[in-house]
Amino acid sequence: MTQAEPATAQQPLQFQCPQCGGEMIFDVSAAGLKCKYCKHQTPVPVPAGARGATEIPLREGYQRAPRGLGVATISFQCRECGATVSTAPNERTVSCTYCASHSVVQTPADPNLIQPETLIPFRIPREKAVDSFKSWLAGLWFRPSNLKSMAKLEQIFGVYVPYWTFDADVHSRWQAERGWFYYETETYQAVENGETVTRTREVRHTRWEPAWGERQDHYDDVLVCASKGLPEEMANSFATFDTTHLMAYAPGYLAGWRAESYAIDLPSAWVKAQSTVESGQQSKCRGDVGGDDVRGLVVQNQYANETFKHVLLPVYVAAYRYNDKPFRFLVNGQTGEVRGEAPYSWVKITLAILVVVAIIVALVLVFGRGDGDSALLLPRALDATAHAQRAHT
Ligand SMILES: [Zn+2]
Ligand SMILES: [Zn+2]
Repeated sequence: MTQAEPATAQQPLQFQCPQCGGEMIFDVSAAGLKCKYCKHQTPVPVPAGARGATEIPLREGYQRAPRGLGVATISFQCRECGATVSTAPNERTVSCTYCASHSVVQTPADPNLIQPETLIPFRIPREKAVDSFKSWLAGLWFRPSNLKSMAKLEQIFGVYVPYWTFDADVHSRWQAERGWFYYETETYQAVENGETVTRTREVRHTRWEPAWGERQDHYDDVLVCASKGLPEEMANSFATFDTTHLMAYAPGYLAGWRAESYAIDLPSAWVKAQSTVESGQQSKCRGDVGGDDVRGLVVQNQYANETFKHVLLPVYVAAYRYNDKPFRFLVNGQTGEVRGEAPYSWVKITLAILVVVAIIVALVLVFGRGDGDSALLLPRALDATAHAQRAHT
């Protein structure tokens, strides 16, 4: 285990209170900077030359996009999940925001990382995220008894998760076979009451004809998560952000909060976005074919006006470890939506199944008369126990 090295030489404050000289951080309810000491509030300063929510043409992306976060931070890389998270220079991080591993090392911030164009500021206050975590924990069944003490409430952090969003026009040409159903009356022989009889039935057939067409579509803000810390299925199930509330990036939003550096670069993210667009076009073209059935659909897509944005989206993460496995609880920092993972206690589940089995056995003994039905009940219940144990291993 490597302890994070403490932040080196004391750095000057990024956002200094004009009133008392104290440190200012981004405050959710003020929706601006607020002094930690005298509570003085100011709007988030917009850096000179801020471009606002401009989309950058994909082809020139790497050359044109500005770099860095525009604010001094220190970065910690997790040796376990690989996420690199930046914090304020005076914050000491000793465990990973995403997996709670202590194997984190301070790394120099990569000055070549593309700067976010936009972000959605945190709108849900931290106390509300903690409350959601508490009630989520309280609502869990069949979990280890010490889970509540393991999942420490104070270990919930607001982190800006990196995403790419893409816009594009797509022109699709498609070819397929369009099928129309028709029915024919067929006669067949059947045996009824020991006699062979002739019956009729309606049988469905498909008549196929060639079909082709083209269509034009526009895709807006196709989101690709660029985080290494969030497991992909969690990040995808969580892509419910309202991107109409994106604000132009300003470093002040990060004051007092964490931010992850993207781990999926622009070209790889574009490949992912294209597969989202292509499956969208596949089903739109399928709808265009018409008829009763479709086969052999081939779609060719041509992209135009592809643009991208690098955006940061707000998520509260409470990471905790159980039996040295990481589990995460997430709150969408914009909508308050909740996702969580927690270990099951197989001891409690097995005990519960055994109690149910015991009740069934007791009922069979009391009410059953030893006929076939009651004999059938037991093996099924035992089979359920065995099945649950298999699922565990
Ligand atoms: Zn102040
Ligand atoms: Zn980690």
